[in-house]
Amino acid sequence: MSSGRRRFLPALLTVSLTASVTSIPSFAQTQPATGFAVRVDNPLLASWAGSYGGYPAFDKVQVSQFKPALEAAMAQNLAEVQAIANNKQAPNFENTIAAMERAGNALDQVQTVYGIWSSTMSNPEVQAVQREMAPRMAAFSDQITQNEALFKRIEAVYNSPDKKKLTPEQQRLAYVYYNNFVRSGAKLDANAKKRLSEINQQLAGLFTKFSQNVLADENDSVLVLKTAADLGGLPQSLRDDAANAATSRKLSGAGVITNTRSSIEPFLTYSDQRKLREKAWRMFYNRGDNGGEHDNNALITEILQLRAERAKLLGYKTHAHLRLDNTMAKTPEAAMALMEEVWVPAVARVKQEVADMQTLATKEGATFKIAPWDYRYYAEKVRKARYDLDQNEVKEYLQLDKMREGMFWVAGEIYGFAFTPVTDVPVYHPDVKVWEVKDKTTGKHLGLWYFDPYARPGKRSGAWMNAYRKQERMDSEIATIVSNNSNFVKGKDGAPVLISWTDATTLFHEFGHALHGLSSNVTYPTLSGTSVVRDYVEFPSQVMENWLPTPQVLQRFAVHYQTGKPIPQALVDRIEKASTFNQGFETTEFLASALIDMKLHLAGDQKIDPDKFERETLTQLGMPSEIVMRHRTPQFSHVFSSDGYSAGYYSYLWSVVLASDAFSAFTEASGPYDKAVAKRLKEKILSVGNTVDPADAYRSFRGRDPKIDALMKERGFPMKGATKAPEKKAASKKS
Ligand SMILES: [Zn+2]
Repeated sequence: MSSGRRRFLPALLTVSLTASVTSIPSFAQTQPATGFAVRVDNPLLASWAGSYGGYPAFDKVQVSQFKPALEAAMAQNLAEVQAIANNKQAPNFENTIAAMERAGNALDQVQTVYGIWSSTMSNPEVQAVQREMAPRMAAFSDQITQNEALFKRIEAVYNSPDKKKLTPEQQRLAYVYYNNFVRSGAKLDANAKKRLSEINQQLAGLFTKFSQNVLADENDSVLVLKTAADLGGLPQSLRDDAANAATSRKLSGAGVITNTRSSIEPFLTYSDQRKLREKAWRMFYNRGDNGGEHDNNALITEILQLRAERAKLLGYKTHAHLRLDNTMAKTPEAAMALMEEVWVPAVARVKQEVADMQTLATKEGATFKIAPWDYRYYAEKVRKARYDLDQNEVKEYLQLDKMREGMFWVAGEIYGFAFTPVTDVPVYHPDVKVWEVKDKTTGKHLGLWYFDPYARPGKRSGAWMNAYRKQERMDSEIATIVSNNSNFVKGKDGAPVLISWTDATTLFHEFGHALHGLSSNVTYPTLSGTSVVRDYVEFPSQVMENWLPTPQVLQRFAVHYQTGKPIPQALVDRIEKASTFNQGFETTEFLASALIDMKLHLAGDQKIDPDKFERETLTQLGMPSEIVMRHRTPQFSHVFSSDGYSAGYYSYLWSVVLASDAFSAFTEASGPYDKAVAKRLKEKILSVGNTVDPADAYRSFRGRDPKIDALMKERGFPMKGATKAPEKKAASKKS
């Protein structure tokens, strides 16, 4: 995931964001001309100072400062945007669009820190601020996109014959501004605008409630392993994790499994206690679906209805059509076509996987049919039997710190980045570490990378990237600040943290987002770094996953946590051989979520019962009963904790088609470390942000449109018929 703020886009349009709690626009202006004194009594409102072009003063933050800081920064922005709108001079690029771009620092900075607290340092005090501020921030955003005088000026610049004299990046920026304002209702009449704003505020409140409910179910429920027998099947590292979790939660017993993916999935993989597996599975997959005060079903019904109404107001058939308008796929139909193409072979593969597991289970004396809480357990057994590959054996070679060094090394080899630890900037939690990023050859400062690796109460589950500050050079060179966040279980007193192969892949994935931000080389912040359309933003991250299995990384960095010996080649070969294993499961659990997301948002404004819709749609799709959606509807934060990935979870598949096809450009050349291909990837894709239409950018990297073949081959799925590009029709350049 990648999450961050865009400088001016209202929540509805924050396409490159994910489940970020605060996807709100900002319009703060840096010029003091409008008469707002900097409120020095609230450190959140002070400009980031210090070396590296300034950094967040995390050491001075108090939760009580968020509300007044947000209020002051929003008021300031509104006045400043008003000044742009009321400018007596005729509108031109500089006094309108560039002026909007120059706005932003104060609110950007407050929102960045507020977003970090909301997603990683949450507590009842923070949540109270969120509940109060979310609707107000939505209203604030509408006040800007509904400012008629402002829109008239943007429209005038966009339609002016002088536009041709602007640089290509400026023309693209005008295009992006104009279309985003239109999609946010800038052309509606007063009544429709009023209703739109009501809807946005209501939605903002519902999103906040949704994510707080999921967080509550994650924090409040744990599986207590009472006796030594309850630890059956768990490898030592998981036993240690469970014991640590019990200690830190002050619970007695042999161990505790917390209700997050990084605890549950390993437990489901190894526990030989079928009853406990079922308990853990139910606890995790029923988040937000337990009745009672944290149940999300009614909220979802309301969210879907409001979204459908909003789409109609804006002139779109459904919320899905509205959301897909600003993507590479362009239409829900194109996204559905890709999903359906992959769904059929994925489900067929699941049938084979289940048959293999059933055979093995029966041989071991099992008298039951494989259930969803058995899938990971027996898949692991089949993996061991068939490929002699024990994930746990692999894990002993995957130390978090070494894997991080491995990522740094790859970034140095292919993109020329150098990372140095930094200890003189404040962090918001002692677990967070910071590195300075420089160009390896020139020594030029490129940015800071913050790393927040460990799970803790108040931090949302999953892994994501965040841009604290975007690269730009409107007036002077501004370097980016990016962060990666994950939920690894912290080791006891400095013991090495061992992570699974999947976790290592996720680590590389999020780092790919960070490198996208760090490679940015543009003029305007709105077009910078990861601010690209949603079904393109997961391309740089997913392509990065391909460097983990390279021998160069494994031999140097996958070293045994006790002996320090590199991972044996025989084990690497077995990993390679098993790489298409369980792809039926992984693809199907993802696609089921993506299809439900799209179908929910195509269903229009009927009153939807989410549980019933999920059940019936999965039956229609022929969902294998042994698998559950990766994110069930009541806990689908990508889709319901913001507009972020609504009707957009398919984006991962769309992007991975690009990622696989792009990586095959390396293998067609001299391999993953081919300097010429890497240079082209950085120049044509990573550094350009949203200054170039994504389809054009891809073509200039690859010399052709993307093909699905590489992905199907990677997953071991048969290709049906001829080569096919993921989009029906290549997007034309519009800026
Ligand atoms: Zn991602």
